[in-house]
Amino acid sequence: MSASSYSTHKDQLCLKVAVPLPVRETFHYAVPGELREKVKVGCRVRVDFRSREVDGYVLEEQPAGRRENLKEILKVLDPEPVFHDSLVPFLTWMADYYLCPIGLLIRSVLPSALSQRVYKTARITEKGEKASGLLPADSEERKWLIWVKENPGRKIPFSAGKARSFEREGWIVVDEKRGSRRAGPLMRKFVRPHDRDGLKALLKEKRQSFKAANEFQFLETLSNSRGIPLKDLLSRFSNGAYLVRKWKDRGFLETYTAPVPRNLDGGSLFPPPAPFDLYEQQERVLSAIERGLDRRVFMSYLLHGITGSGKTEVYCRAIEYAIRQGRKAILMVPEIALAVYMEGIFRSRIGDRIAMYHSGLSEGERYDQWMRIARGEVDLVVGARSALFAPFQNLGLIIVDEEHDLSYKQEEAPRYQARDAAVVRGKLEKAVVLLGSGTPSVQSFYNAHTGRYTLLSMPDRVEKRPMPEVRIVDMKKFSGAGEKDEIISPVLKTALDNVLASGKQAMLFLNRRGFHRIYLCRSCGRSLRCPNCDLALIYHLKQNRLVCHYCGFYQELRSDCPSCGSLGLKPYGFGTERLEEILQALYPDRCIARMDRDSTRKKHQTFQMLKKFSRREVDILVGTQMITKGYDFPNVTLVGVIGADFSLGFPDFRAGERTFQLLSQVAGRAGRGDQRGQVIVQTFNPDHYAIAAAKEHDYHGFFEKEKELREQLGYPPFSFMACLRLQGNNKKRTAEMAGWVARTMSSLLKSWPKRGKEIHVLGPVEAPLSKIRGKYRWQIFVRSRKTWLLHAFLERVENVCEKKLNQAGVQLVIDIDPYQML
Ligand code: ADP
Ligand code: ZN
Ligand code: ZN
Repeated sequence: MSASSYSTHKDQLCLKVAVPLPVRETFHYAVPGELREKVKVGCRVRVDFRSREVDGYVLEEQPAGRRENLKEILKVLDPEPVFHDSLVPFLTWMADYYLCPIGLLIRSVLPSALSQRVYKTARITEKGEKASGLLPADSEERKWLIWVKENPGRKIPFSAGKARSFEREGWIVVDEKRGSRRAGPLMRKFVRPHDRDGLKALLKEKRQSFKAANEFQFLETLSNSRGIPLKDLLSRFSNGAYLVRKWKDRGFLETYTAPVPRNLDGGSLFPPPAPFDLYEQQERVLSAIERGLDRRVFMSYLLHGITGSGKTEVYCRAIEYAIRQGRKAILMVPEIALAVYMEGIFRSRIGDRIAMYHSGLSEGERYDQWMRIARGEVDLVVGARSALFAPFQNLGLIIVDEEHDLSYKQEEAPRYQARDAAVVRGKLEKAVVLLGSGTPSVQSFYNAHTGRYTLLSMPDRVEKRPMPEVRIVDMKKFSGAGEKDEIISPVLKTALDNVLASGKQAMLFLNRRGFHRIYLCRSCGRSLRCPNCDLALIYHLKQNRLVCHYCGFYQELRSDCPSCGSLGLKPYGFGTERLEEILQALYPDRCIARMDRDSTRKKHQTFQMLKKFSRREVDILVGTQMITKGYDFPNVTLVGVIGADFSLGFPDFRAGERTFQLLSQVAGRAGRGDQRGQVIVQTFNPDHYAIAAAKEHDYHGFFEKEKELREQLGYPPFSFMACLRLQGNNKKRTAEMAGWVARTMSSLLKSWPKRGKEIHVLGPVEAPLSKIRGKYRWQIFVRSRKTWLLHAFLERVENVCEKKLNQAGVQLVIDIDPYQML
């Protein structure tokens, strides 16, 4: 080997690549000379991996150094990076912390249009051609064979099963194709003058003598343009297709394709104008944040600002400040509809250098927005939790609005908490992180309490508007009076009458997630709870008993109440639909609308519904937690909470926290205009600390009590938790495997004599939702005071159990910092 070729070898570039497969490691590949200019960190590259071709992600460029015999990458798939190297440490942390293979993580984070797809295509055989002639004219087989004949090489529109059976008959040959349907900009056909001068002369000369009546107008429109989308022409001129063809043939027009931005719904619910002056509390908070931004280091703030204290304005100014520094910002909100609303506000303030990013966008829209961000064409991204991964360089500020909201937890893989992860991203990229809420999560407030976050607070409502009056109605007084009164008490009915008579609006809120009924004592209001865990017990129909889904404790069904001894224990449960029905019966002439998961499945329905409500076309809006989010409806003067007990009776150690948050947020909806609002809370537990504190708007009181309980029972934030969920198609085997995993865990712990005692395993228990989409579900909870210890243990458990679980056809899903106990 000559000296010079040795040195080129030494300088050779090597790439660290993550592949989108269930493997934890990353892999090294060499770059052939001709691709060297093309490849960058953040590009997708096609590589040969365990004798298949996969599309991986470049995480790092390194000198090859001593590594030898590396495989070369086959192809660079992106002309420009889809993320930057500044994001790589964060992606790596996410993969480690949430125990998710890094390639799979990246694939799920990128807009799905960037993932390669493998699809089946088919060609017809001679035998198939014959068969298509012989099959009955109206048969499905014949229809598909003809389709294959006419569409060779296209993605087949029928099932893989059908394709296999055709193939068995020898009618078709099936091929697998990958990734040629590349994502990219949206292309549209345009029409423009080919010979503008000629066209102008023609128009002058022939003015009156065109055949079609609108022909002159058609040509004149085009002669004055640089290009008009064909679609627009067709909608304006009914004979447009004919005219385009005619004048194209004669050489006056031409067609071409060009990329267009996808149309985004940037509408908003009347964004309020920007105020000139800040209130003193806003000024104080903002200047703290600006000082943080000035230092250009990582800072984390928790802004505790009650509803109506003017947090949005603080966000606006902080974002404007970061942008003036030449840095970028991310604003996360809990709901898509709220992102649309916020985008309207920010667009009116900072103009077009803003992107929206959330799962409500189409695949193409997501791709467009993502690439605008990656190219640096945008200063601010507004979106739901997926906005956390916005591929910015030079990130200055991340704001998480309504940081307590549960929607920040992603419940499918990768299972992450976007609010907690935002703090880590800020730390890794030296950005300021601002978490804001009127009712901070116990977790975040505890972090502020211990000094990890800097606490900022805005205790007053803007213009010192009074907090709404919260009235608690003790439903025990109406029990036995009939279903109607147990759903809408006479107190609430009177209040509704008054509101409607004065032309105002009301919102009624019911937080019941469909799956369970709670067992509630009609005499004392208590629900049945586990003596070990203080969680509500869940009724199991088959064994006819009540079970704790955390530790496995159970007891037989009974009607005598363990708290008061009366025979008042009965099931309690109804849904938003029933509530709507009853209201419609009470107010037949009024417009009642319902907003919940069922009524808002379609993309823009939520937004439309809110718009209708804000235009006062709806008198009473009934809804689940969806209606508690921070929209501003000045005409709402009454908010009712139906059955606060549903959220208290939820089998979750956060049930108290959830109830306090929901009541406070709901209360914040009342009286945002000039009128003082009224809140009515119906409950069987008027004395419960979460309800009493919400009535007094006393966050600190609530926090102290909640903290004490969590500490006593060892729940987070006083421990770190994980949930191991076992899922399988076979009921018996899933149960057996759950038992085996739990036993394996215990013996592993015994082999760690010292550390083992610092980890607690609870269960296995059948999950409250014991079967979802055909899969049986069991769960095991693990907790420890030390997060690193918990992680080391979980990785070990995963390694030890993997093989046997695979053989048994049972899947193990690990949920770190779980929120779903279901
Ligand atoms: P939060 O998000 O804290 O619940 P908002 O940001 O919605 O509160 O503010 C409540 C109301 O006060 C809004 O109608 C907003 O337009 C108004 N507002 C906020 N800051 C100011 C200000 N500095 N001057 C005048 N009005 C303000
Ligand atoms: Zn009782
Ligand atoms: Zn228990």
